[in-house]
Amino acid sequence: MPLPAAFVAQMQDLLQDDYADFENALQQAAPVSIRYNPRKNTSHSLEKKVLWNPQAYYLEGRPVFTLDPHFHAGVYYVQEASSMFVAEAANQLLDFDRPLKVLDLCAAPGGKSTALLSLLNEESILVSNEVIKSRYHILRENLTKWGNSNVFVTNHDPKDFEGLEGFFDLVLVDAPCSGEGLFRKDARAMQEWSPEAVQHCSARQRRILSIAPKLVKKDGILMYCTCTYNTTENMDNVHWLLETNDLAPEQLILAEDWKIREVRKEKAVGYQFFPHLVKGEGFFIACLKQKEDFFHTPKKKKSTFAHLQKVPKKQLEAIHLFVRKDLSLDFFQTEKGRIFAFPASLTSTFIHLSASLKKSAYGAEIGIIKGKSLVPAHALAMSHLITPDFPKLALDKQQALQFLKKLPVEVDGSKEGWHLVTYENSALGWAKVLKRRMNNYYPKEWRIRMEI
Ligand code: SAM
Repeated sequence: MPLPAAFVAQMQDLLQDDYADFENALQQAAPVSIRYNPRKNTSHSLEKKVLWNPQAYYLEGRPVFTLDPHFHAGVYYVQEASSMFVAEAANQLLDFDRPLKVLDLCAAPGGKSTALLSLLNEESILVSNEVIKSRYHILRENLTKWGNSNVFVTNHDPKDFEGLEGFFDLVLVDAPCSGEGLFRKDARAMQEWSPEAVQHCSARQRRILSIAPKLVKKDGILMYCTCTYNTTENMDNVHWLLETNDLAPEQLILAEDWKIREVRKEKAVGYQFFPHLVKGEGFFIACLKQKEDFFHTPKKKKSTFAHLQKVPKKQLEAIHLFVRKDLSLDFFQTEKGRIFAFPASLTSTFIHLSASLKKSAYGAEIGIIKGKSLVPAHALAMSHLITPDFPKLALDKQQALQFLKKLPVEVDGSKEGWHLVTYENSALGWAKVLKRRMNNYYPKEWRIRMEI
């Protein structure tokens, strides 16, 4: 499909002599890259590194990720390389040794949320929000696989965050955009592009950006990104942010071989990734420091925690057969008995957030008590909360794929009882071994549906 004429004219104007190289790059296949989860088994033989992310590598081609058990175990996240730069920018501007409160306002499917989680310590929290319900479920799936318990996932419109003014050290707005930077990967983005769509996206971005700065605490950072090139959605919006708020532009340090372009409009500074210069897709990022103090003591609102109960002490014994004892965790259960855990140092923050953000999921799900025993949740298998010596059922690749397809797997010789199912040391889920068979507890909705 030929590039839209108005897009060609826009890019010729933007890139001048570079345009031919840019158009040529759009004819090439998009590079494939993955970013490893530092919390999981990350042994690999990949060599081609993404220059701005120490955990990320390029692959030679695009494998069928569904047929790799590590993919389902959250060992890595498939993410286009340019957008991984968010973690580098955050690292340059914030001290990740401190306890931080981070908000990813437009988060699904979770690429940037997982990248930020890999930077945060256990006393820090990520609020990962997605307004569209179906996409919120995908976000929850990806974050569950990533395995953190210091995460609060929400399904709200940005305006629902009013009440959390001055609360966050970092607010990321990875805005819905016209997607020019994805044309070679996504034919639909090109079909849907038009100058009118750009205007429409810009107006929507400004609606989100009229809320986001107030949520950042004084001296905290607002990060704005898109996967597009045009000035209307990028530098004009950054310039507008500076004119309408007490924000200061932040300069990033760029290595020369990254070939990321700095762009300016008066005081505004942004960074643009072009596919003829970087090994990645089109991307834009700008970072701004909040100079104003919006924090006010929040009004006491009823929190959804009012419906949760602390797990009674007598149930903790059953839980600690599965969950490490050396972590300082709080355990809460819903009216239906579903148990969740998160770092105890974050409980008051979780309670505070849940007063404003009712549509949310907290921490890592642990399971449900039936009789006197815990039936473990899949999220627990994906997390780092499991006691290290829990019985394991190590499968080979074919067995692992069968397990992920929710088919029975032969388990001759294994002791009866709960097992953490693993493939090359990566946890895949839970199985309960009975006399002659095993019950497969892999979540039905996430099972592999293709032929294996
Ligand atoms: N940050 C994500 C990642 O790295 O995986 C990608 C985010 S995508 C560029 C933008 C997201 O914004 C989409 O998930 C979309 O559903 C959401 N969105 C759409 N309209 C929105 C709105 N009015 N306010 C907030 N988010 C919106």
